[in-house]
Amino acid sequence: MKTLATLRLPGPAWEELREVQVIEGPWPDALGAGRPGVEALVVANEVVDDGVLDRLPDLRLVANYGVGYDRVDAAACAARGVAVTNTPGVLDAATADLAFGLILAARRRIVEGDRLVRSGGWNAAWSAGPFLGREVTGATLGIVGLGRIGAAVARRAEAFEMRVLHHRRTPGDPADGYRELDELLRESDVVTLHVPLTAETEGLLSRERLALLRDGATLVNTARGAIVDEEALVDELASGRISAGLDVFVHEPRVPERLLDLPNVVLTPHIGSATVETRAAMTRVVVDNLLAAERGEPLVTPVTESERAERR
Ligand code: NAP
Repeated sequence: MKTLATLRLPGPAWEELREVQVIEGPWPDALGAGRPGVEALVVANEVVDDGVLDRLPDLRLVANYGVGYDRVDAAACAARGVAVTNTPGVLDAATADLAFGLILAARRRIVEGDRLVRSGGWNAAWSAGPFLGREVTGATLGIVGLGRIGAAVARRAEAFEMRVLHHRRTPGDPADGYRELDELLRESDVVTLHVPLTAETEGLLSRERLALLRDGATLVNTARGAIVDEEALVDELASGRISAGLDVFVHEPRVPERLLDLPNVVLTPHIGSATVETRAAMTRVVVDNLLAAERGEPLVTPVTESERAERR
């Protein structure tokens, strides 16, 4: 099956593809006037919309290298009979690990401390006052989105003796830790986001909701930047009232200028799933989907009709 990819995926599974071309240059201009004959497209966070689909008239499959496929217009694909696949499950542990890393780094001021040591500011920092962070063990953790990754974070929180609250679409029992979102924000010392970016979750953490966070609370976002009102978050961080660990941003790779000078936020470049092992496992899933499509077999991890509908 003639396949186009925006990058060469890491790991041995990639070698199993026979007809794959990696396109160079900025997306989507690299497609030029069009690529008739291309039946499958592999993307990693690139936009796939009507403009892209128009240039790929023979496309049958979009294989997204990642679980979050919010930059693929699933409705436009469905309208043209193009299937979409993603890579759910295999990246849960790596992403949950990073979320926990950001919780620890932000609350214990690990990155700030590292900068102090390197710049020779150790003594000066201590003489200006104690260099204190906030406790992780025993704190209340609010998980927004208790799906695959959110549940993996909850399991890690047990080892830190945290009190775990959660919010999701499906209402639950408060005795099991379920909270309405506003309640969860008011009650948590740490809030970590694990919902997909959809029409409902865009701007979910509005300025008003961010104001509900406790003084000294920590917000961690390894989901998608646009789930939070980014400007309001920068304002809260600039006030010094809260801290944050952010792996995702609204206009990646652009990061709001004002964040760069703030000591109370830890910034990472969208690396939730970026380990050698997990990226190879994600490649395996992409390749298995491509091979299944080629053989006319059922796709391994198709984005389902109901998932597509959520994104509309
Ligand atoms: P998932 O298993 O589908 O879980 C999503 C959770 O979000 C579910 O609990 C769902 O509620 C909840 N949810 C959906 N819409 C909601 C709404 N409007 N209000 C409240 N809760 C809502 O997804 P996942 O595999 O854990 O992945 C989550 C997201 O993480 C991905 O979509 C992706 O954007 C992001 N991600 C980022 C990285 C990175 O590199 N930083 C890596 C991997 C994933 P129900 O349980 O009630 O259905």
